[in-house]
Amino acid sequence: MTHILEKTQTDVYLDFIGENPCIKIAQRMFERCKPYFVRPVRPKDRQTCCCKYHVEFKTVFKSCMEFRKKLLIENEPNECYSTPVYDSISDVVNATLCEKVDGSHDLQCLKRNCSDCGVKILNFLPCELDVSDTAEFVKWEKFENVSVNVKGNKTIKKLMLVKKKKVKLVNCFHISEN
Ligand SMILES: [Zn+2]
Ligand SMILES: [Zn+2]
Repeated sequence: MTHILEKTQTDVYLDFIGENPCIKIAQRMFERCKPYFVRPVRPKDRQTCCCKYHVEFKTVFKSCMEFRKKLLIENEPNECYSTPVYDSISDVVNATLCEKVDGSHDLQCLKRNCSDCGVKILNFLPCELDVSDTAEFVKWEKFENVSVNVKGNKTIKKLMLVKKKKVKLVNCFHISEN
């Protein structure tokens, strides 16, 4: 798997020599030691969709993965292989699809017309599937039209991210499928 640098190579170099003052290495030399699977960021890596569904889903995904991490640490350390903490949304989406052929997924899998794959092939921890009243809450955010007071005693409607509670990982996938 390729790792993309989240900062410039100069910043990484400056951090490194700051943390390891006894190691004397020139920047070019340091950059040459970079593992082959790490590459600098390209403009296309920065492209993200800012539509409300993607922004909402990102908050849900992040909260659910934090919840899973907590469950794995506290209760079920042996389940970390069957229910991994996914790094990114594309990783977890890939886990719900058949293997790629020639570098891409089959269109029928992506359209959820394939009977071999789908959200059903994901594994969940019992606590993640708990929908009872005693189930633990997971916080997430959702766009809503909120009334805001403005000058002149007026109220306007404004689209804002509002904090929400309670969503389960399994439910968030049903949100994303629709
Ligand atoms: Zn989008
Ligand atoms: Zn499939």
